[in-house]
Amino acid sequence: TVIGDCPRKSGTSGHLTLWALENTTIPQPAKHEVQLRMKAVGICGSDVHYWEHGQCGRFVVTSPMILGHEASGIVSAVGEAVTTLAVGDRVAIEPGIPCYFCSFCKEGRYNLCVDMKFNATPPVDGSLRQFYCHPANLCFKLPDHVSCEEGALLEPLAVAVHSCRRGNVQLGSRVLICGAGPIGLVCLLTAKAMGAEKVVITDILNSRLEVAKKLGADVTVLADIKDPQRMAEKINAACSWLPDVTIECSGAASSLQSAVFATRPGGNIVTVGRGPRNVEVPIADASSREIDIKGVFRYVNCYPTALQMVASGLVDVKPLISHRFPLTESVKAFETAKSGADSAIKVIIECG
Ligand code: NAD
Ligand code: ZN
Repeated sequence: TVIGDCPRKSGTSGHLTLWALENTTIPQPAKHEVQLRMKAVGICGSDVHYWEHGQCGRFVVTSPMILGHEASGIVSAVGEAVTTLAVGDRVAIEPGIPCYFCSFCKEGRYNLCVDMKFNATPPVDGSLRQFYCHPANLCFKLPDHVSCEEGALLEPLAVAVHSCRRGNVQLGSRVLICGAGPIGLVCLLTAKAMGAEKVVITDILNSRLEVAKKLGADVTVLADIKDPQRMAEKINAACSWLPDVTIECSGAASSLQSAVFATRPGGNIVTVGRGPRNVEVPIADASSREIDIKGVFRYVNCYPTALQMVASGLVDVKPLISHRFPLTESVKAFETAKSGADSAIKVIIECG
């Protein structure tokens, strides 16, 4: 058996979190699984949280866990019941494995599954390693002209597809996106691809607004975090229209408050960003103007759409990739993603 290297977070005790590249045996595929030789794995904000704090929101690392969930790989072996994929196929990996039996799975909202096993959400290991096995039905074959890096980026892109669907972005929509991090940026690309006429985007960093402009934002507004109402006026003054849909991708309380003030009566706000557990929201302003505020949790049935968007050229996610590191330099990769150094947007680890 060849031994593969894998970055692994080991021994979280108290506030001490250790980080190590460790050897594990190569997993063999079960009946409905494929074994993948991993290629590209993107670093998500949640990976950085687990790496740095051993925790992300309500999820806490209590035993060693392998990170990574924005991933793609090449099929290196197939389980006995797998007929849809063959050795050599390059695939994007949808990282959440639902139970398929609970009421949420049965009604088609498997992202809300009560027994979801999601890569790199404790206690489930992630896919940042050389070999990894995954159910074949959650692996999406990439056409020859779509790279493994683009395959890895289907994960955040799927979040954007779900967010735009939840917000009812459609032909002619006018959209406000709060926060121009990787998620805000993929929402920008997706909203445009879904027919949005105009997109205005905010951030507290000019560098991120510059990237948003290059990716097609019609208007950018530097965020004023002290006065949410004034910030909303600033957004509305910068556009000659009011947003039909607001996609909140910063998680900042003041940004959600601005979103309520800035969105048009009868509009939708989708809350993608995660911030403090309790946030004061001007709910009377939302309610009396019939603004619907909706939750977003990952994605459901969005990978096929995300792949078609990339394969057809409707969206180009490649400009989001700012850094690449080999697996052996994973710590450097995480430090870069954490610090936002050198205008880091999406950091990719090459496992192959
Ligand atoms: P990120 O931290 O890179 O991006 C957030 C951006 O918001 C940054 O550019 C930051 O400068 C900006 N920002 C901060 N305060 C702001 C303010 N007051 N107004 C405007 N912009 C502000 O993170 P990301 O990877 O882009 O993810 C965005 C958010 O989405 C995170 O909170 C993440 O946890 C969340 N997320 C949610 C889901 C989901 O399923 N709902 C999935 C993935 C990520
Ligand atoms: Zn379920």
